[in-house]
Parts: sequence; structure tokens; C-alpha cells
Amino acid sequence: MSRVVLATHNAGKLAELRRILAPLMPDIEVLGLDDVQGYDEPAETEPTFEGNALLKARAAVAATGLPALADDSGLCVDALNLMPGVLSARWAGVAKDDAANNALLLAQLADVPDGRRGAEFRCSVAFCQSDGSSVVRRGVMRGRVIRELRGTGGFGYDPLFVPDGHQETSAELAPAVKDGLSHRGHSLRAIAPRVASALGG
Ligand code: IMP
Repeated sequence: MSRVVLATHNAGKLAELRRILAPLMPDIEVLGLDDVQGYDEPAETEPTFEGNALLKARAAVAATGLPALADDSGLCVDALNLMPGVLSARWAGVAKDDAANNALLLAQLADVPDGRRGAEFRCSVAFCQSDGSSVVRRGVMRGRVIRELRGTGGFGYDPLFVPDGHQETSAELAPAVKDGLSHRGHSLRAIAPRVASALGG
């Protein structure tokens, strides 16, 4: 069976990535970083989601010799000039603390009226191989930031984000519903056929 490494330690993201990819690539074994020998993961120093996704996937290929998939994603808020963007995971500091990030975002948007709370999640996913080839696909989920936390599913900013066309936050939606709408779902569904054809799955 062909194998691909998913280059993330974020448990919430890993669960989503696996859940979305499994039915799309049933003949390819998807390994997490815990399944391969440890290596120094690169700092996410690029200014774009695409750049960081490529950085992470290339580092995983170099360390493991296996083909690798990596995503980089974040929340881009209209009223904050598209921030936190690539800084989403560490918006409130290096600790990558979801609760602190959500509290900071709520405080920053406290005076922003309901009609101007638009935002979108963006994701770039990169697939890299040891021959140096790479492919990147993007996905977006548009919605708005509400004024209080709602729901216990998902991760990160999900309890504050209501996708367009829905009443629930993405932390209240069933996982399969979030996957159908999400930035990560869109980008993975776009890249999966490329992975499958490259690895013969
Ligand atoms: P990354 O690991 O550098 O890609 O950081 C992604 C960060 O963006 C996460 O830690 C979350 O704060 C945020 N994020 C990305 N996708 C989602 C999502 O689907 N729901 C909620 N937060 C997300």
C-alpha cells in the first residue's frame, strides 16, 4: 500500500484531514507525524498560507523520504485587514492557546457592528514528493465572527465563526457538515485526485 505523511501535530486538524482524505484515497495509508521518526519541524516563517504549506511538506519529505501533505490555514477577518491570517495559531502569543486567541479576537472586534463582522477561513494544502515536485490547492469558507463562543466541536476559532448560509457556528455543526463546507475540505478534495494518481491509489 502507498503511504503519505500528513505533516501536522495539531490534533484537531489531523482528525479533520484524515476524516476527509480517507474516503477519497482508500488505497493510500495516511501516516501522522507521530507515526514517523521525529525531526525538527520548520518555523512557519512565510507570509502566505501557500508558502508555509510548502515549507512544511518539503521538510517532511526531506526527513522521512515519503511523499507528504501539509496544510496551512487561518482566519482572515475583514475588519482586521485580513488578520490574524498566517498568525492565527499564535495570535495571542506563542502558546497556540485557542481560548486566549478567541478572547483576543472578541476584544478586538468588540466595537465592530454586526454588519461588518465578515471573515473567511483560508487553507492551502501542499503535496510534495522526493523528486522535488509539488502541487498546491486552496480552499475558502466564508462567514462571520459572532460575539460569544458557541459549541464544543471543531477547534481553534470554530466557536466564534458562523459559516454563510448557516445559523450554527462551525463548532456546532456536525463534523461531516463542516467538512462539506470548510476551507480544508475544499482544498483536500481538490488535491486528493493528484495524490491518488501520483501514488497509484
Ligand atoms: P496552522 O497550524 O499554522 O495552519 O494554524 C492554523 C490555525 O488557524 C489554527 O490553530 C486555528 O487557530 C486556525 N484555524 C485554521 N483552520 C481552522 C478551522 O477549521 N477552525 C478553527 N480554526 C481554524
